[in-house]
Amino acid sequence: MSAEGVSALLVSYGRDLQAAGAAQDGESFTGRPEADDLLRQDPNALLLGILFTQGVPAERAWAGPWELRERLGHLDLARLASEPEAVRDAFQQPPMLHRFKNTLPAWVSDAAARLLDEYGGDASRIWPTGAHVLEVTERLCSFAGIGRKKSVMAVQILTRHFGVALEGLECGQVAYDVQVRRVFLRSGLVESDTPEAIEAAATLACPDSPGTLDLAAWLIGRQTCRPREPKCEECRLGGPCARRIWLTPHGVG
Ligand code: SF4
Repeated sequence: MSAEGVSALLVSYGRDLQAAGAAQDGESFTGRPEADDLLRQDPNALLLGILFTQGVPAERAWAGPWELRERLGHLDLARLASEPEAVRDAFQQPPMLHRFKNTLPAWVSDAAARLLDEYGGDASRIWPTGAHVLEVTERLCSFAGIGRKKSVMAVQILTRHFGVALEGLECGQVAYDVQVRRVFLRSGLVESDTPEAIEAAATLACPDSPGTLDLAAWLIGRQTCRPREPKCEECRLGGPCARRIWLTPHGVG
């Protein structure tokens, strides 16, 4: 059992995922080609997708912008901004588009207005080639509905999956996500469940790009290091992992 061994395996897995441009489980964010295409082709839809990534399974969240466009018949920023009732009604049509049926529509209308006012209607101007990771993280954080966790995750996705060339990858981080936290705690990479401890451990493991560990830990948390009955025998961290399977991130039961 050793934290160094766990770190080495996580870094190696993270670099493999990065080289493959992996999204989540494989190449797809949503499990639906048409919804994946929209995210790839429309930076504004990608920004809306970031807003959706909360409180629902990841695939459902990332398919949200495509579903919203189907219901509204458009993703026109001016209309999203000026017709908040229509946006809210689209969310609340059964089946509900998202469990945050009131806050998320408001965030979408707010984001559309800000994209028009501050970015010329083009979300890719939030993350232009050569921008610094911290600058992009801060810009994303300034949108209603995007906190640090979503922002850090989004920067990793932009660089890993969408090929956005940002500077300062050594400042990119792992998201303080429940899957990541569970893996870091149980494997012995951290002793306490705090954002500072998780970020320090990721930086120690991969100083040139701590965010490399983000998707690797998230996938392991989702696939093998489950809250109950973790599959240690099948886990890629199984050898060196401390296997403290009784530990659970605080605040999540
Ligand atoms: S599933 Fe088991 S071996 Fe894998 S990270 Fe969790 S505790 Fe460690």
